[in-house]
Amino acid sequence: MKLNRRTFLKLSAATASMAALGASKYRSVDNWASANERPSNITTAYSVCNSCGNRCGIMAYLRNGRLWRITGNPDDNKSGGKICTRGHGYAQMVYDKYRLSQPLKRTSDGSFVEIPWEQAYQEIGDKLMGVVRKYGPQSVFWSEYSKPISNFYGARLMAALGSPNWTTHSSTCFVGRNVGFDYTLGGLPSGDYENTKYVVFVGRSPADGMGLNILKGLGVAKKKGAKVVSVDPRLSYSAGVLADEWVAVKPGTDLALLLAWMNVLIAENLYDKGFVENYTVGFAELKEMVKQYTPEWAETITGVKAEQIRRIGRELGANRPAAFLEPGWHAAYGSNYANSTQTARATAIVNGLLGNINKPGGLCFYNRVSFGGLNPELYPTPPASPYERVDGAGVKGKYPLTLSTGLHHLLPGLAKEGKLKAGIFYSVNPGRTVPDRNYVIEGYKNLELTIVIDWQMSETAEQFADYVLPESHPMERDGIVEAIASSRPQVTMQAKVIDPVHSGGRGLDRIVSELATAMGLERFFNFTLEDLNKAMLFPLGLFPVHLKSRGIVDGDAGQWHYEFPVDGSGKPSLRTKSGKVEFFSSSFAEHGHNPLPAWQAPKVMPSGDKLRMIHGHQAYHTHAQTMNNPYLMSITKDYEGDSIWLNTETAKRLGISDGDTVQVSGNGWEAKSKVKVTQRIHPEALFVPGGYGGFAKSLVRGYGIGVNINDFLKHDTEPISGHAMMEEVLVSVKRA
Ligand code: SF4
Repeated sequence: MKLNRRTFLKLSAATASMAALGASKYRSVDNWASANERPSNITTAYSVCNSCGNRCGIMAYLRNGRLWRITGNPDDNKSGGKICTRGHGYAQMVYDKYRLSQPLKRTSDGSFVEIPWEQAYQEIGDKLMGVVRKYGPQSVFWSEYSKPISNFYGARLMAALGSPNWTTHSSTCFVGRNVGFDYTLGGLPSGDYENTKYVVFVGRSPADGMGLNILKGLGVAKKKGAKVVSVDPRLSYSAGVLADEWVAVKPGTDLALLLAWMNVLIAENLYDKGFVENYTVGFAELKEMVKQYTPEWAETITGVKAEQIRRIGRELGANRPAAFLEPGWHAAYGSNYANSTQTARATAIVNGLLGNINKPGGLCFYNRVSFGGLNPELYPTPPASPYERVDGAGVKGKYPLTLSTGLHHLLPGLAKEGKLKAGIFYSVNPGRTVPDRNYVIEGYKNLELTIVIDWQMSETAEQFADYVLPESHPMERDGIVEAIASSRPQVTMQAKVIDPVHSGGRGLDRIVSELATAMGLERFFNFTLEDLNKAMLFPLGLFPVHLKSRGIVDGDAGQWHYEFPVDGSGKPSLRTKSGKVEFFSSSFAEHGHNPLPAWQAPKVMPSGDKLRMIHGHQAYHTHAQTMNNPYLMSITKDYEGDSIWLNTETAKRLGISDGDTVQVSGNGWEAKSKVKVTQRIHPEALFVPGGYGGFAKSLVRGYGIGVNINDFLKHDTEPISGHAMMEEVLVSVKRA
């Protein structure tokens, strides 16, 4: 696809405007101070941004004890001392009038009343223990947007209750990618962005989904002449800023492209023979399989010209090992398509053929920081649950290959079937972020007890919570120590930087410990967060006070090594079954899945006027979490960020013009939206920006703004990693 000059200039202008946000009216906590003002009575404190999984180190500036501005911590090796727009916005919410400040209990008329903490603990504790006694601990679950503090406290609470059902949001996010990489490379490496000569992003947009380390590294690599290719049905802002080439692939067909690259690398002897011989298994089977997948074949599936596919394959081969396919996140192989897990496998395999594992400019495995833990003689560890997980994660015959973070999009169905009776939701909002609104609400309404822990209301809290417990804002409390995964691993800790704005909120560590005490489980929570942090830091010779005063400290693991991992006897020791890169996965075969990532079509394919709905992040929003953020929503308003995108030719055919209001219909759902008509999207796709379509009335700033792909999706599950299929949906669009 070619862009005309006008579209290109518009993209450049928009990109420049977005890049300039740091100096604009959106910049910082400027409702009470100019960002450039530097009064003398400023104090600083270190902490960690909580707005997304990157958890960048930040420096908070306080004036008279009030948050004045935040910046990135320059010692953060991963972020490079930068923070993004949404990090600024999230910090500002500490003063928001819509924050929760007291525990809430639903009354018989469906409204909420405030209750004291002690009453909340007592009632929830009694009811939760009642459910455990009546239905067994396996009927209780925990669901969270994965964070270090809840990874510990949530999992421990479930274990203390005897429940195996601790889950994160991973099955609607990255699980397909992780499973694909785990069974091929034994884990998820990172790109050595700074030193690469050639990188291909398959669906990922680090300037929209936000990967500050990637942007930092690519900035360096591009100055040295590196080439960046973006494979994406949409010309994302990352591609607009960074890519030398946009491969406008038909959505859901990335696997065919990857198979064709394997074909080119092998047929033209461009792969790394030494690496394949020494460090891989299954090359013969792979070679035989990919013979059929020529670039000409892939053109018929992907819509990408065979010559372009072949040329990129050759360029990858010519630049190896300082060339890689980026490990991605969600897009083509996180949780979107029926073929996502095998697409992730294929991505890892192309990297194996390039022989780039732990090579400069290739894919490298991080070294791990060695944290300690609580002494079990003083602080008894709850025993592992004897029950099988209800969602089937890790269970033979169900989803044995998937992650221990579970399959949270299956939980509403299990609640409807009566297998789950009580759930705790921490900082997660499945009411908005899990596919198929009716399936989610109807399922969860079947629970006998639902507790939401969050600092703001949400669709989940409004629709089916019996109790809502207000967590304090991250700026008001300490967190758990954590490692920053980067080429040089570091240690940091979210630290309290201001006194609580609302005295009613509590940290998760306290909420869980006090709730456990109300249930008679205090023996498993007989420590403070400070005790835990001290125990974790002990092997490193550090104390929490070091992290509070220095923000970030280098871990003990040192810079990553440019050597293939081997054990003491020199044998390859990737975390796969064989210790090598597994082109052929015997684990997949054992569980009835194709051991090679042969071509598999997505579940649905566009035809006629039916378009595939696709979705993605914006640089200024984190899922649905920031939809009530006045600063970030003002960016949405100024840039019409809630508009859906439609291709210029498709729009012309359908009689739709830029800025029209259109009606989108699919799978029995209909919604109206403004439309942006652009050449920056594949003609068979319709792009919906993520996070919008809020229907929680208490989130007034996001209520009714934009549409959400989850409303158009029917509940569905991919069979290997068990992820939701979040782009297997066809829609029609017409002028409203
Ligand atoms: S990328 Fe942005 S939102 Fe995410 S942790 Fe960093 S600053 Fe916060």
